[in-house]
Amino acid sequence: MEDNDSFINSPRIKENSDLLHEIGVLAHIEALERYIYNYKKLLIRGFNIFNHTTIDEIMDATVRQISEQFLPSFIAFIWKPIQTRENIAMKAYKDFEPIEIDLNIDCITPFEAFFKQYPKPIQFELLAYQIDNDEAVKPYLDINTEIAVPILGPFGLYGIILVGKKTLEEGYSYDELFFLQQLLAFVSQAIKNYLHYDHSLHDVKTGLYNHGFFMTRLNEEVTRTKRGDYHSSIIVLDVDKFKNFNDSYGHLAGDRVLEHIAQMIRSCVRADDIPSRFGGEEFTVLLPNTNNNTVWNVAERLRNSVAKMHVPWDVPLSQVTISLGIYTFDGKSDIDVPDIIRRADEALYVSKKSGRNRSTAWSPEMSNPHSTEESSTETTNNTLPEAS
Ligand code: GH3
Ligand code: MG
Ligand code: MG
Repeated sequence: MEDNDSFINSPRIKENSDLLHEIGVLAHIEALERYIYNYKKLLIRGFNIFNHTTIDEIMDATVRQISEQFLPSFIAFIWKPIQTRENIAMKAYKDFEPIEIDLNIDCITPFEAFFKQYPKPIQFELLAYQIDNDEAVKPYLDINTEIAVPILGPFGLYGIILVGKKTLEEGYSYDELFFLQQLLAFVSQAIKNYLHYDHSLHDVKTGLYNHGFFMTRLNEEVTRTKRGDYHSSIIVLDVDKFKNFNDSYGHLAGDRVLEHIAQMIRSCVRADDIPSRFGGEEFTVLLPNTNNNTVWNVAERLRNSVAKMHVPWDVPLSQVTISLGIYTFDGKSDIDVPDIIRRADEALYVSKKSGRNRSTAWSPEMSNPHSTEESSTETTNNTLPEAS
């Protein structure tokens, strides 16, 4: 700005100011200055949004940035938590606060083809005209949507950001529309990055955490327990005779069962536990700060829930069961991650050997390969061996 001031005030410019004014050079410079100022503001606001790592933080920051300029009747974010599925999540705000909006939609698929061809923010009326699908656009028009911004990535349309008409004044000015469209293009990128990151932690089929994330968290938990005086536990579980199940009903029915088991696992554990799909039909749960009694109760609750689970399908499906292995560790036992997994696996093996549909907590004699058969006959359903 200083450079610009000294330029405008330099003697040669002053001498010719009438001419420069007359031919519009000064007005042009002023317009450019405003343009640059808006871009700088936008960059700062965009940077503030990129600074956040969770989707809630990104949405909150966006709403703050916009609401400092003007108050739209609402700002809504719609996104597909799993990009390969149609299911959507939605969060809306008004005056900085989350609100419920009356947007009755269950997918964003009708907009996918259009946004793939035109991957930019657009005024909703124009979008509605282009889409030419009254049924699809009506819910958005009913809530007075002014702008729609696509969130796009390699899997297609991940979500849409909606901005409602202004609350107080007439319409958006040219500058405001420019600001909104550019800022939301940043937000769309930030949300896409977040969704990709989130996707990289999860298993696509079940939505649980994946093997890699489980191992990372287990490593961290082992380090953490060494610093504090508490126990943490893991459960390894495997679907019983699942090959037979697939052979009888097909892999798609098998997949549906795995999804239901994942849902069951999610509902049996706490928010800070780490339920994961270890691979195939094998799942693991890391339970930080959990002793052997508590983990046993979680395992048994899960085993019983799966044994009673109903999975809707074209034909009635036979009941599936799971076998579980449990291991509890604390900071005192000098044990590493592979040993923890191995011990939980040994306990699982005992559950399988002793008839399946049961839980077993690890005990030291299980690590002796010659005693496995023996201990299997000794392990009765629902008994709790002493954990180390
Ligand atoms: P066990 O009780 O000893 O565990 O018997 P099992 O038949 O479950 O064990 P096995 O290791 O012989 O077979 C595992 C089966 O799990 C075979 C495989 O087709 C099935 N499976 C693994 N991953 C998936 C999956 O993603 N979807 C489906 N439908 N089946 C899977
Ligand atoms: Mg199995
Ligand atoms: Mg298996």
